[in-house]
Order: sequence, then C-alpha cells, then structure tokens
Amino acid sequence: MHIADVIARDGMTASFEFFPPRTDEAWDSFAASIGEFEALRPSFVSVTYGAGGSTRERTDALVARLQSSTSLRPVPHLTCVGHTQAEIEGILAGYASRDVSNILALRGDPPRGGAAAAPGPFRHAADLVRAVRAFNESGRHPHGRGFGIGVAGFPEGHPETPNTLVQMDHLRAKVDAGADFVITQLFFDNDAFFDWRDRCTLAGIRVPVIAGLMPITSVAGLRRMADLAAGTRFPAPLLRSIKRCEDSPEDVANVGIHWATEQARDLMDRGVAGIHFYTLNRTDATRRIYRTLGLQGRVGSQGAAARA
Ligand SMILES: Cc1cc2nc3c(=O)[nH]c(=O)nc-3n(C[C@H](O)[C@H](O)[C@H](O)COP(=O)(O)OP(=O)(O)OC[C@H]3O[C@@H](n4cnc5c(N)ncnc54)[C@H](O)[C@@H]3O)c2cc1C
Repeated sequence: MHIADVIARDGMTASFEFFPPRTDEAWDSFAASIGEFEALRPSFVSVTYGAGGSTRERTDALVARLQSSTSLRPVPHLTCVGHTQAEIEGILAGYASRDVSNILALRGDPPRGGAAAAPGPFRHAADLVRAVRAFNESGRHPHGRGFGIGVAGFPEGHPETPNTLVQMDHLRAKVDAGADFVITQLFFDNDAFFDWRDRCTLAGIRVPVIAGLMPITSVAGLRRMADLAAGTRFPAPLLRSIKRCEDSPEDVANVGIHWATEQARDLMDRGVAGIHFYTLNRTDATRRIYRTLGLQGRVGSQGAAARA
C-alpha cells in the first residue's frame, strides 16, 4: 500500500526511522527491540541507506528481515549520488521482487566537492524520482502502480541552497517528477514547520508532508543533531530548559522527550499528515511519547493487515 493511501485511509501516519546496525552485537541488540517497536504498531518504518551504497547490503538485509518476519511495513531509503543507472535499477528490482511498496528517494551527500564531483548520472534527488517512476511505468513491480515515492523536505532550509524560493522550486521539481509524499528534516519549532508547509501549498505542492521529529536525549546528542541537521534552529526555551539541568543526563532526557511530546501533540492538533520519529534504533523516547499521547495502536491500526 502506498504511504499516501495510508494517510488518506487513517488520517495521519506515525512512523519510525531505523538505521542498519553495523556490527553483529548491534544487530542482536536491535533485533531484541524490534518487538517493542512492533508493539507500538507504527504505520510504517523507514531504513536509512549510506550515500554511495556504503550500507547497501545492510539496508537490504534489514528491509528483508522486517518484511519477512515482522508486521512492520518497511520503506527503504535510497540515495542516488555515486550510483549508476544499472545499479539503481538492480536495487529497485530487488525491492519490487520482495513486494516493497514505497521508496524514500534521496540524493545523499556527495563526496567533498559537491554534487558535480559525484560520478554517475544522478545529480539530484529529482533524477532518482524520475528513475523510480520510469521503473514503475515499465511494469516491473508486481503491483501495477509500482512504488510510492517519498522525498526529503527541509522546513528550515537546506544548507546548499540559501535562496528559499529556489529551494522550494527544487522541492516542487521532485513532486512534479512523481514524488507522492514528503518527509521533513528534524525540527524543534512547529511554527517554522507550519509556515514552510503553507509555503509548500502556495508553491503548488499538494502531496502529504510528514513531520520529522527527533527527541533530544543527551547534550552530546543535541550537538550531533546541530551538526547533522545543519541550519536547524534550537528555540531558546528548549535550550534554557536543557541548560537548567545539563549536569543530569536523566533530566536532560526528560526535557528533550517532553519537548518532542508537546511538538507531536501540537502537530496532531493542527492536522499534520504524519509524524516520523528518528529513533536511532532506540525505543525508549518514542515509547514514552506514544504512551503520553495515547498513540499506541491508534494510528495505522490496520497496518499489518493492510500491508500490500
Ligand atoms: C527524511 C530524510 C531522510 C534522509 N535519509 C538519508 C539516508 O538514508 N542516507 C543519506 O545518506 N542521507 C539521508 N538524508 C540526508 C540527505 O541525503 C541530504 O540532506 C542531502 O543533502 C539532500 O538530499 P535531498 O534528497 O533533499 O537532495 P536534493 O533534493 O537533490 O537537494 C539537495 C540540494 O540540491 C539542491 N538542488 C536540487 N535540485 C537542484 C537543481 N536542479 N539545481 C541545483 N540545485 C538543486 C537543493 O535545493 C538542495 O540544496 C535524509 C534526509 C532527510 C530529510
């Protein structure tokens, strides 16, 4: 089932992002928590992909495992920089043969020197969206409509394109190329998200926009987020609360999870199409948010039965 159809059916989605574990020990510990994630009954889960194919086998293995032995609906991320057309077609054919229904189509971060330095035919995510659409139209997916296609959005801007109007044109180009949902970069300021979503609408972008949330659980984690999600603004009230208790890891986690819980509640109250939790493969924060908001099993409750 396409994610856009799940949103149309359920009103909204709640979903998780996983990354493929790097070591055998990490696999074991993640495997032990998959059941806890499953019990929350998310609408779908996404699996990250290392730019240039660096996690190709591991991403594939995790998607296969989720698809074959859980009720979770996996949505693989796929980045295109550094890949050839044949490699991309091979990856899509593999997912199609396993009945994967949706792909998150991304550019990935090219090696130093920018997109132009990356070898291969794919310069931007829109090129990958076109490739997925061509694959869909070729009839090689077992379901007639092929893959649902998601793309990334950046409510607080993408660092490579300071001109926000041009950036919106680039998002629109991905949707025009065939994307049917958007998942955003993490953010902490809901007003910034809703203002950007309004600007998407003004730019003619009508596909559902799923909000990306990442609860802060440590001061080190906050610093890593600021680096990975460059440009994301940390509101002063959030930083003030963290500063008050920065010497207590437990209190910092409480502050971060409380902030994300309030963000999620407000997003739902204001009619968001979905919330995507960046879990870092850890259940704690997401489970607490789910419980506090009474979300468990409420969103995507027909997930397992409806997986197609
Ligand atoms: C939800 C989400 C999931 C992610 N998952 C992963 C993952 O699994 N693996 C990973 O490596 N990375 C991942 N990323 C990071 C992402 O790959 C990087 O942020 C990357 O820099 C942008 O990817 P994009 O798909 O938005 O690229 P694009 O849409 O191609 O945009 C990249 C930049 O190029 C500009 N641009 C687009 N089109 C043009 C054009 N025609 N001419 C000039 N400039 C243009 C855009 O404005 C933007 O600044 C994820 C990001 C998000 C938000």
